[in-house]
Amino acid sequence: MNTLRLAARRAYSTAKPAVIPRITPGLVGAIGNTPLIRLNRISDEVGSDILCKAEWMNPGKWNDVDGGVRENDDSPVTFYIWFLIGGSVKDRAALYLVQDAEERGLLKPGGTVVEGTAGNTGVGLAHVCRAKGYKCVIYMPDTQSQEKIDLLRLLGAEVYPVPAVAYDNPENFNHQASRHAAKLNNAVHTQQFDNIANRRAHIETTGPEIYAQTNGEVDGFVCATGTGGTLAGTARYLKDMKGDKVKIFLADPPGSVLYSYITSGQKLFERSGSSITEGIGQGRLTDNLAPDVDLIDGALAIPDEESIKMVYRLLDEEGIYVGASSALNVVAAVEMAKQLGKGKKIATILCDGAYRYQSRLFSRKWLESKNLASAIPDHLQKYVVL
Ligand code: PMP
Repeated sequence: MNTLRLAARRAYSTAKPAVIPRITPGLVGAIGNTPLIRLNRISDEVGSDILCKAEWMNPGKWNDVDGGVRENDDSPVTFYIWFLIGGSVKDRAALYLVQDAEERGLLKPGGTVVEGTAGNTGVGLAHVCRAKGYKCVIYMPDTQSQEKIDLLRLLGAEVYPVPAVAYDNPENFNHQASRHAAKLNNAVHTQQFDNIANRRAHIETTGPEIYAQTNGEVDGFVCATGTGGTLAGTARYLKDMKGDKVKIFLADPPGSVLYSYITSGQKLFERSGSSITEGIGQGRLTDNLAPDVDLIDGALAIPDEESIKMVYRLLDEEGIYVGASSALNVVAAVEMAKQLGKGKKIATILCDGAYRYQSRLFSRKWLESKNLASAIPDHLQKYVVL
């Protein structure tokens, strides 16, 4: 064998991976256990650690489901891989919603899962259903991006985009999903908004992960709400562990009523405006949020100008490519850090990647249509590429 080939082979065979992977039992075994990423530049600037759960990495990345081994160390860590399909915080809820329906005997082999969703829960459900052999039907408001609709269809879901009308209208996507499920045999409307299996996903996974990843030293958690599952579930766990030593803030986009509800002594539901963010903002207290709304210590209203600017800053300064709800969460985490004082650890959620929104978020025409083109500072204009 010539020396070059031998050297190449030796170089390869001595480059041992730090982790020896074991098998993950099916795709659903790879949901959760996402990294907690410190935003280096933003944290240094604010003087507190801004720590973000990288939910776009669902399902995939580190996973300890069957106790793999690290070299020279028997701590249970296994598998590192990314599948950018589910790719959102809602994969956790989707898995819990399906498991809940199975456990309650509402879903038997060959059955159908029906859901009303702005997109990410649908994508999560669609691939959990594919992995488990169920059919999936999704009703969604027709204001959502084409990328999400395409992806759902690609994953085998039946998709019905319907007019975006309020919850009290019987034609609301959620009620349509309910009626559809009632017409089928062996079908369940998973009801992500009011089924507390959603919140349980975060009590049992997101909360414990953040607590463990910060060695219990997390001082604050903030995020926006759609169903409220992420905020309420994570808050519940962290408050149970730390009581008042951890503060919980809710972040709200324009058009949502929760900021006014939490900040007004009279608990008013006041709505004004609309937002470029997708999947967040709420017009009522869902059953996922209601039991834990008293755990919320403060609320922040985040304008779209700030969220879109942060989409671009995260890309430019941290190399992180996420959607507008993630960016809103980071803006809120920075504001929370300022309110709590320096030297704190503030955790939040990067809900999903920007892939699903790129035809909007990086398009000049779309930014101009929303009067947001001027919100992007000059040095970041180079990312307006579409
Ligand atoms: N961000 C995005 C992009 C979402 O799709 C959702 C869920 N609709 C959320 C945030 C909010 O999560 P939750 O439903 O747990 O409040």
